[in-house]
Amino acid sequence: MLVNLKEITQIAEQGGFAIGAFNAPNLETLMAVISSAEELNCPVILQHAQVHNALIPIETIAPIMLDLGKKASVPICVHLDHGTDYEECMKALRLGFTSIMFDASGAPYEENVLKTKEVVKAAHSMGVSVEGELGHIFSFDAGSGEGGKIINDYQSASDSYTDPDTAKDFVERTSVDALAIAFGTAHGIYKMKPVLDLNRIALIKEKTNIPLVMHGGSGVSDDEFRRAIKNGIRKINYYTYMAVDGANAVIRFLDKKTDKDNIQYHDIAITAQAAIKEHVLKAMKVFCMK
Ligand SMILES: [Zn+2]
Repeated sequence: MLVNLKEITQIAEQGGFAIGAFNAPNLETLMAVISSAEELNCPVILQHAQVHNALIPIETIAPIMLDLGKKASVPICVHLDHGTDYEECMKALRLGFTSIMFDASGAPYEENVLKTKEVVKAAHSMGVSVEGELGHIFSFDAGSGEGGKIINDYQSASDSYTDPDTAKDFVERTSVDALAIAFGTAHGIYKMKPVLDLNRIALIKEKTNIPLVMHGGSGVSDDEFRRAIKNGIRKINYYTYMAVDGANAVIRFLDKKTDKDNIQYHDIAITAQAAIKEHVLKAMKVFCMK
């Protein structure tokens, strides 16, 4: 069944766990995520990042996400990830998304507040939730696709982290339903072991009292996930390491094949889907099982 972000994070608040939010820019990933969620009876967020329009247009994937979400036996939220302009957010609303992230975190603070407020107004009038972002979630290289401030080390990163008092002001003025915060996680591949300021999560939670979102989830240890969830993370964005696992399974499958003239594409798709499912099951057990 379809639910919005406010509803799905409320389930997580009550249960003291987090909802996995998986980017799924193809049918194999979508099916792997939904079947994992149904198998474990975990609510889940299917998300399409605006930047993934280059892989599959939102108009193509949205009806599939929504249809699979409606038919699923667990609560499913269909979410736009990193909507960076008003038009894309309105497009997601028209397509039937139940939640959108509007990311103006790269803009000066007052601009972020005003622009986010405008998106919240439109979304809330349709019963759709909004995730905002404050602080700069970073990346170790520009190729990660989801954006973020490029950094080389953790010493130079802490000034990009979310400030708890500013977060309180941001949430009060924008009425967002969830907030993506920066505390050391990074989009894409981690070039070094993450150094996370987990205490900051609890400080922000105390000031804002809304569900907090971790971006750059794949690549973080199980123990760090558990501590982040304990401190108030209720949505975990997850993609890169799951996608890498899918690709590695395909490479192993192709390497093993002796009859290279008789490899059919569906074998590749099925191999990737099985590996992605295995990865998602492991992640979901940490996020949503007590
Ligand atoms: Zn992100």
